[in-house]
Amino acid sequence: MIQTTSSAAFTIYLSITLGMVMALWIYTHYRSKKRKILTNEKELFICEFCHFAYVDEQVNQLNLCPQCGLFNKRDKD
Ligand SMILES: [Zn+2]
Repeated sequence: MIQTTSSAAFTIYLSITLGMVMALWIYTHYRSKKRKILTNEKELFICEFCHFAYVDEQVNQLNLCPQCGLFNKRDKD
């Protein structure tokens, strides 16, 4: 049987635990770099009825308020 002291066993346990945390951190770090973030042109709208602020795409002339369901018209253009 392998003879170890309590401090050596604790050091091995700590090394394995920190190694697993480090490997998980490296895996998630490189995995998050592969993701593409697609951004569309969006604009902040404020509902005329309930004054709820929300973000929607600029291409829509009419957009739906997510809180009250009222259609709001785009002001610009
Ligand atoms: Zn609203």
